[in-house]
Amino acid sequence: MPGGLWLSCPFCKNMLYKKTVDENMGICPECEHHFRIDGVTRTSQLVDEGSFEEIGPDLASNDPLKFTWGDKNYKDRIKVDPAQMSAHEAMLAGKAFIRGRGVMLAVMNFDFLGGSMGMVVGEKFCQAVDRAIEESLPFVVICCSGGARMHEGLVALQQMAKTSAALARYDEAKGLYISVLTDPTTGGVAASFAMLGDVIIAEPKALIGFAGPRVIQQTIKIELPEGFQTAEFLLEHGFVDMIVHRKKLRSEIGRLIDYCGK
Ligand SMILES: [Zn+2]
Repeated sequence: MPGGLWLSCPFCKNMLYKKTVDENMGICPECEHHFRIDGVTRTSQLVDEGSFEEIGPDLASNDPLKFTWGDKNYKDRIKVDPAQMSAHEAMLAGKAFIRGRGVMLAVMNFDFLGGSMGMVVGEKFCQAVDRAIEESLPFVVICCSGGARMHEGLVALQQMAKTSAALARYDEAKGLYISVLTDPTTGGVAASFAMLGDVIIAEPKALIGFAGPRVIQQTIKIELPEGFQTAEFLLEHGFVDMIVHRKKLRSEIGRLIDYCGK
């Protein structure tokens, strides 16, 4: 069987034809499991067709640690392929329209180094915030990340403070910040901008948390509750405002923007 044509759903275990899943917005037609989707696909699902004006697509890390692992090095891994500019980093940002409402949008791309946050993610995020302040636009962020990018060490961790400070400026300017948590939203992203939304939306069953369950269990030595770190658990405990099905995300964002008068 040729590879890549079929995939197995991790929840209902059905074998699915990949094209059918793609045409269904990356959702399992049998059990509604939301598969991870890349940043470019996510952007095209969300915005009004042809309305996305990207900012900083050519931003690239300067590899501050000259990081290598095994026979690989970070510098080669992040080399920009001009044909795949938008997909070459862990975030795409730009101005767009969602159901006719103007927004600044930042979308994380898990396919690029696990959606990890380094200097480029931080910089695109802050440029998007500045534009949102200048043009009085709502700011919508789709989170999907394994955390801070270890290849950039402390510079990556610094992005947590940088993005949070930008959001504090945005808050002072009375902006509306909608944060959408998708599977997975973890580590340094969960501990900074992901959780600072005026409204926090999550996709069904998304994994959301800081450290993984095994690390927590070994550290605090207690049994973790059922469903710990899922979107549903966090909704019940007040960390998430609503869970929205991927097919309703566009209309829900539009509704929230209207409701908040932005
Ligand atoms: Zn399924």
